[in-house]
Amino acid sequence: MAIRALPSHLINQIAAGEVVERPASVLKELLENAIDAGAGRIDIEAEAGGMARLRIVDNGCGIARDELALALTRHATSKIASLDDLEAVGTLGFRGEALPSIAAVAELTLASRVATDEHGWSVQMQPGEPMPQARPQAMPVGTHITVERLFHQIPARRRFLRAERTEWSHLDAVARRLALSVPERDIRMRHNGREQWHARAACTPEDAQRRIASLLGEEFVEHALCLDYEGQGIGLQAWLARPAFSRSQGDLQHVFINGRYIRDRLLISALKAAYADVLHYSRQPAYLIFLRMDPRELDVNVHPTKQEVRFRDSRRVFEFLRRSVSQAIAAPVQVADSASGAAPAGSGQAPPGEPNWSIAEGPPASASLPVRRPLGVSLRADSAAALYAEVQPAQLDMPSGTVDQAPPLGFALAQIHGVYILSQTETGAVLVDMHAAHERIVLEELKQRLHGQQAVSQPLLLPVELRLQPAEADRAEEAFPLFERLGLELRRTAVEQLEIRAVPVVLANFDHAALVRDMIGDLGAADVLDTHRLECAIDRALGNMACKSGSIKAGRQLDRHEMNALLRQVERTPRSGQCNHGRPTWVELSMDALDKLFMRGR
Ligand code: ADP
Ligand code: MG
Repeated sequence: MAIRALPSHLINQIAAGEVVERPASVLKELLENAIDAGAGRIDIEAEAGGMARLRIVDNGCGIARDELALALTRHATSKIASLDDLEAVGTLGFRGEALPSIAAVAELTLASRVATDEHGWSVQMQPGEPMPQARPQAMPVGTHITVERLFHQIPARRRFLRAERTEWSHLDAVARRLALSVPERDIRMRHNGREQWHARAACTPEDAQRRIASLLGEEFVEHALCLDYEGQGIGLQAWLARPAFSRSQGDLQHVFINGRYIRDRLLISALKAAYADVLHYSRQPAYLIFLRMDPRELDVNVHPTKQEVRFRDSRRVFEFLRRSVSQAIAAPVQVADSASGAAPAGSGQAPPGEPNWSIAEGPPASASLPVRRPLGVSLRADSAAALYAEVQPAQLDMPSGTVDQAPPLGFALAQIHGVYILSQTETGAVLVDMHAAHERIVLEELKQRLHGQQAVSQPLLLPVELRLQPAEADRAEEAFPLFERLGLELRRTAVEQLEIRAVPVVLANFDHAALVRDMIGDLGAADVLDTHRLECAIDRALGNMACKSGSIKAGRQLDRHEMNALLRQVERTPRSGQCNHGRPTWVELSMDALDKLFMRGR
């Protein structure tokens, strides 16, 4: 076949294949345009999941009559003019592809009016036909776009559309997501003639909180702690669901960079790593995250839907996000601060928009997790005793004074079957899984000592030999400098053999071969995330160690001093709401919950 240039209609249809997959992708493009046009108010109307009709009405700047044709032309855009603009793009759109692509696969009516005109102009396009003359139309300043019968003329694409309910749920998700990204705009959503939701413009932090609750659910907001943080030229605002609100799917994970929704592998894995320590591996964290950074630091021109990005310094962004999120969710239980009037731990009444570090791990979500503990682990009485020794005896028991100084986890009343501690708190009761809690305490101690200062290493009198697969040994060898930073000195002695020559002092009593083997196994192929992977591998290995060698054996009787010491220790330990395997370490039963159980009206 001879080479020939494709007709523009066919080019647009091909481009539409990338940009327009389903009604939700049309809605995304049109909403982005309305947002870019500065609209303060956007009304969306969909019929039959958007397959029959989608209409978006905005009060933005509008399009002048003589630019209507250009707006519908491929690669015509008002948003960038040069390569410099592209490098620092601040609008959601910039490719000038959406309108012509949509017009190639659906009937599109575009009506628009700019402020300097007395009326608007409207054109009605049919796929494959040239643009007709614009006709005058009475309308307020802004743009009204109607898209009808999507893929009507393209049976091959129409077949990929799903049931109305499915298409509707995609539309709904896209609109909620964009509504999250522009809190100061009023967005209203209707489907089949009925209003579905209305996100009102938010001016105060309370409004913003309410808006997020209406878009992502009350429950999410109730379980989320807020984080507002800036560092290394990156701004971070986040709502992070506590581990008890984890999900089976990653459906409540929203990340925005400079107002643009992004679904990026790197960011998702940074967040997964941040939660790894407190979440059971089968659960997904829930979060809403807004990042701000210099647009020059990232490239959004990677994919036509603009949901993927490339970072100039991906490792910095990864580390920033992982560190700040993991620190926020690691914040230990805090004793109620009466001076600042903060709500007592567990009451969940922190003022909206304020960081709320007090932890109330509700039982419902966690109760579904497997709560079997490994049996037969031995107690190293010395390590337990060492922990208790740090606590002043005076702190341990019920003070003679008032109860309003009661610590968050209260005072121990009894031990149940050698497994749980029952404790009375200011607002109810708490049940603590002794073994799980102690495991976490030991792990955090180890981690702090290991990562905290330059690891002090101690040479082994007899080096420990380790036999490995050649590939594993290669991989380990590449990571020798990292191991060394942690005080682990290794040497390659043969193709299939390593030698451990020195170990960090804190780990002196551990099984070194098992530890190093675990870490190497976890290490995987080397990439940008080396250090982090190694740290993770070490933390996991330490977790296993803590579980095996340092923790209170289920079934051991503790006296009241020991129980209270454990409770105080849990309060001071980061991430103490979960054991090393992501299971809850304690649950709270408020008086309200108890009253409900007994149907006692108060
Ligand atoms: P892009 O958004 O990438 O520029 P589009 O095809 O989506 O490309 O839109 C083309 C142009 O049409 C935009 O650059 C903008 O000037 C104009 N436009 C589209 N939608 C609107 C709108 N709702 N209000 C004002 N101008 C719009
Ligand atoms: Mg656009």
